[in-house]
Amino acid sequence: MKVIYSDHHQDHDPQQFIVRGRMKRSNEQPERAFLLAGAARDNGHTLVQTQDFGAAPRAAIHTPEYLRFLATAWERWQALDDASDEVTPNVHPFPGQPCTYPDSLVGQAGYHMGDMACSIGQHTWNAAVWSAHAATHAAALVLEGERATYALCRPPGHHAYADRANGFTYLNNAAIAAQYLRRQHPRVAILDVDVHHGNGTQGIFWRRSDVLTLSLHGDPHFCTPFFTGHAHERGEGEGLGYNLNYPLARGTGTDDYLHALARACQAIRDFQPGALVVALGLDAHERDPYKALAVSTEGFGRITGEIARLGLPTVFVQEGGYLSPDLPLNLASALRGFEAVA
Ligand SMILES: [Zn+2]
Repeated sequence: MKVIYSDHHQDHDPQQFIVRGRMKRSNEQPERAFLLAGAARDNGHTLVQTQDFGAAPRAAIHTPEYLRFLATAWERWQALDDASDEVTPNVHPFPGQPCTYPDSLVGQAGYHMGDMACSIGQHTWNAAVWSAHAATHAAALVLEGERATYALCRPPGHHAYADRANGFTYLNNAAIAAQYLRRQHPRVAILDVDVHHGNGTQGIFWRRSDVLTLSLHGDPHFCTPFFTGHAHERGEGEGLGYNLNYPLARGTGTDDYLHALARACQAIRDFQPGALVVALGLDAHERDPYKALAVSTEGFGRITGEIARLGLPTVFVQEGGYLSPDLPLNLASALRGFEAVA
């Protein structure tokens, strides 16, 4: 399988990650992508250098003011008196209350950054742009006839809304890939198998019926992002019924995971999309640092084998999956499982 990769990710190395009140280095580290790229290469996949697809693909998903904020925030932050090295929010608007777009950069940070897990460093914007290019490139190759491609995206993307970063993500790579596939296909599905709910993807396509969004994830009763990912969230207006969530109990293993996946795959078949984007998180693994679900390494191959049986042109987009000796094995299993069936 062609693996779309760029070294630009490595300059994004966020240090200010606040979890349970403690500040520490983010779990979303450059070493992840080096491990994943090594695993792809060692297992016979072809690394392709990411091409520049310009600003249009990201502008088709994200708002102009948000893109302007991401592109300029770090430099503007440095001009503030006694500012930290990374842009980090400390004040937020209140849901459902009147809200005027703020002039202040500190206000804009709170408006566009949903949590303390999406700090912006000097090169974050550049890394996010190239990550989105990788997803677009992978989609373009599928439109040219590849059966499946894998975008090794870092930073990941599935938590990013049209105008808001959160959960280690800035630009929604899976959404950008799906929108690009829409150039040729009237209907596209996004299947998110990351252990965390694809809240940004859900938000972006919430009112649309041309992109079916499905997410399997740890139940929001115990798993971040907490506020979304329930089965009753099904879309609104045009989009009602085109957003499907499959929350899973803590510790769900491979067999039970596959039961939920079978239901999701049937919904994809019923939708009859022309192409599929898989938001490929590997953090549902039993030894991932998040320890929410308990999919085995071999289980990732069974999951992607099931996905391959859909028979759709498929773009894999890397999401989560954190540092452990299992991470490269899980990617190898996922790619092998797909190719064994496809
Ligand atoms: Zn995740």
